[in-house]
Amino acid sequence: MGKTIQETNTVPVYEECDVLVVGGGAAGHSAAIAAARAGAKKVIILERYGYFGGDVTGGYVIMIPTMSWYNKSFVRGLQEEWFTRLDKSAPGSYICPSLKEIGDTSPVLIDRWSLIHGCTSMWAENKRLVRAPYYEPNQLKIELDLMVQEEPNIKVMFHCWATKPVMDGNVVKGVFFESKEGRHVVLSKITIDATGDGDIFAQAGAPFLGQRDASTRVDKTALVWRMGGVDFEAYARWARQFPKENASFRDELAKIAGFRTAVLPTERNDVVWFNNFLPSKDCIKIKDLTATELEVRTSIRATIDFCKRAIPFAFRDAFLYDIAPQLGARCSRRLDGEHVMTQLDVATAAKFDDVIAWHSIVGPMNDSGPVELPYRCILPKKVENLICPGRHLAADEIIIDTLLLIPQCVGLGQAAGVAAAVAVNDGTTAHKVDIKKVQRILSEEQDVPLPRQRNTDPEMVQLCEDHHYGIMNERAKKIRAAAGLDW
Ligand SMILES: Cc1cc2nc3c(=O)[nH]c(=O)nc-3n(C[C@H](O)[C@H](O)[C@H](O)COP(=O)(O)OP(=O)(O)OC[C@H]3O[C@@H](n4cnc5c(N)ncnc54)[C@H](O)[C@@H]3O)c2cc1C
Repeated sequence: MGKTIQETNTVPVYEECDVLVVGGGAAGHSAAIAAARAGAKKVIILERYGYFGGDVTGGYVIMIPTMSWYNKSFVRGLQEEWFTRLDKSAPGSYICPSLKEIGDTSPVLIDRWSLIHGCTSMWAENKRLVRAPYYEPNQLKIELDLMVQEEPNIKVMFHCWATKPVMDGNVVKGVFFESKEGRHVVLSKITIDATGDGDIFAQAGAPFLGQRDASTRVDKTALVWRMGGVDFEAYARWARQFPKENASFRDELAKIAGFRTAVLPTERNDVVWFNNFLPSKDCIKIKDLTATELEVRTSIRATIDFCKRAIPFAFRDAFLYDIAPQLGARCSRRLDGEHVMTQLDVATAAKFDDVIAWHSIVGPMNDSGPVELPYRCILPKKVENLICPGRHLAADEIIIDTLLLIPQCVGLGQAAGVAAAVAVNDGTTAHKVDIKKVQRILSEEQDVPLPRQRNTDPEMVQLCEDHHYGIMNERAKKIRAAAGLDW
């Protein structure tokens, strides 16, 4: 260790609450709303920036994959509520197959939607329509504000950066935070770490995992930007007709940018977004964060010039539309929780008594079939009264790539909020919470489909069984065989 400086000060308590949510991304926003709706009397949500959504709005991650499987919508709850609300308040601010269309296999619809990545099934031989919304991030930002403002039990504290937990032995009692008003504390009965990077659980003494597999997307950082003045459909039809030429275009694009980059659609045909992948960068390292910002911005002008030259019929009038206000953070610390989700859990369609989300996922090893996520994958070992939903959930270094996507962050956040409200109202702890009550509230009051509940849709169960949970493919077979499991 280099030079150190001793620090001793008395820190004033700014607020006290029942449930404190640290971080207002997909997971944190959902946790706060769900806690308030489940009866928590005072919820505080503390966020370092000035808006909700994290990666989803500020990072311009503007596509939510795989909310349905065949003709059933597995990802509902707050995730689907974003879109039922946008339908009314901002029509046209997102595109994807409607709930009525999911599972449809008619060739005309397949032809139209297969131009939009994720809106048709990715692995099945018989293509079918999938609910995978592409949305305008600033419209969603406004909607997320409205959802919170409608809940009188939630107090919002923007521009407050949580620095460390307040500990009493192994029990989390709130957090210290920095703001323009100085250093303060918020005290809470239950704290939800939804920072995405485990900022709170890491300092509370909960075990966590670090490395990701270098082959995964989540080992890479990004700074998303959008290009206007394009004809996306013209590009997509060309790419489908000439896959080799498109592969060369993408290789050249990566050379020019200096990293892999992907042209993706938006809700408008004349705007595309550039997702990008800067390899082996850690989104909690100052050096890597700084490099990501500088490298991506430096690459933008050359990328636009190249697109104009390479595919003029689609990009002739292209221009820089905007750059995401915040860097895209994928994965840093992962919780080493009470249960760590593994590839095998997905490849065997594992069942959990404490299931809190039952989601169709982006699943190369299960044809995007539904997966059960247990409460224990957001519950830390050793530390009490802390729940940790979001992209830092407990998952192995490969399956994290699949499970940190937006629907899973929203679903786990929603469940964490309900669990926190139940624990506080029953006067118990995060570890001892009545999980049956949590499941009942989620499935009966908060529109979250869960297996083995009183109101579980028998058609969903039948669908899973008819299609063997999607796990009879070669990839899943290999994983089971390696683990010595026959099926
Ligand atoms: C470029 C990119 C492309 C992606 N593509 C897709 C995709 O197409 N589809 C998909 O579903 N997923 C995609 N993902 C993954 C997905 O976007 C994220 O995993 C998910 O949005 C994470 O949500 P979260 O709430 O867990 O974390 P975040 O969105 O990171 O939210 C964390 C929040 O906490 C705040 N915060 C952090 N630390 C503190 C602190 N100490 N104090 C106070 N506030 C704090 C942050 O400001 C932020 O608002 C992508 C991710 C990236 C980066």
